[in-house]
Amino acid sequence: MPDKPKVAFYWCASCGGCEEAVVDLAEDILTVVGAVDIILWPVAMDFKKSDIEARPDKSIVASFINGAVRTSEQEEWVRLLRKKSLVVVSFGACANSGGIPALANQSSKEAILKYVYEDSPSTDNPGKVRPQVECQDEGRTLTLPAFHSMVRALDEVIEVDYYLPGCPPTPKLIMAAVQALLSGKLPPKGTVLSPDIALCEECKRKDSKPADLALTEFKRPHQVQIDPEKCLLAQGIVCMGPATRGGCEALCPGGNMACTGCFGPTSRVKDQGAKFISSVFSNIVPKEVKEIDAVLDGIPDPIGTFYRYGLSKCLLRRKLQ
Ligand code: SF4
Ligand code: SF4
Repeated sequence: MPDKPKVAFYWCASCGGCEEAVVDLAEDILTVVGAVDIILWPVAMDFKKSDIEARPDKSIVASFINGAVRTSEQEEWVRLLRKKSLVVVSFGACANSGGIPALANQSSKEAILKYVYEDSPSTDNPGKVRPQVECQDEGRTLTLPAFHSMVRALDEVIEVDYYLPGCPPTPKLIMAAVQALLSGKLPPKGTVLSPDIALCEECKRKDSKPADLALTEFKRPHQVQIDPEKCLLAQGIVCMGPATRGGCEALCPGGNMACTGCFGPTSRVKDQGAKFISSVFSNIVPKEVKEIDAVLDGIPDPIGTFYRYGLSKCLLRRKLQ
């Protein structure tokens, strides 16, 4: 019997939700497990780095890597997997564009370490001890990964072949990607494996979205009784649908929640947050600066709202201290 294709799953700066998404394949996971040999999956199985290092280059058919890259260990792993894999799939919003971990790019490395190890209310560290990359203990050298100064998306570190969007990607998209890989019917390199349309196109509320939203205020979901039929933006709730790629079948608006933009932009958009700002803010009714500011006060965290998943790919990149 011929060897089954070898597949690896790896996680970097990640919440584990993308790993859960693989488990969420339910009985479909048996199809995957039956068709491939999983040779690396740290969340579920105990493989060693040396197992992967010992493999011939390009002997892994596909590596699915989730999470952003923040530490030297994560960088070493993704470079190793790139070397050993024919195809690398960037899996989920954190790998694709930095995701939630990239929100940390609003603070310097020093500010993060100082808060975590000295200033946070729950920290008890009178000696202000911080983790060291290397230290000696009873004649042994102990090492820890280095904490890089920025969070990077996967393709800012290694070459990526395909992107699966979402926080996390849906089981349907994951299975479609696995089947495309197994059948060899792969789209052009660099493709995002999800329809290249705006989310509004697949939202059941789209017919109630007026051409001019005539926005006079923004409200947060807990401040309003949401009409379950009407476009959320038309109700003054920030919904990232117009600037976000479809493919999730508008699960969040369908559940009475605004889209937060986890599928990233379509191919025609360079900067998701800027696209949202330019397309939606032109619908603000007041035209005087003071009144416009009063409308925008309804969005208390603009970066966390417009770049929740994409600060690594934002044209502005990061805040200078
Ligand atoms: S994309 Fe979402 S689910 Fe996946 S690791 Fe990042 S935060 Fe977690
Ligand atoms: S803005 Fe949101 S609620 Fe309105 S149509 Fe688009 S995705 Fe649906």
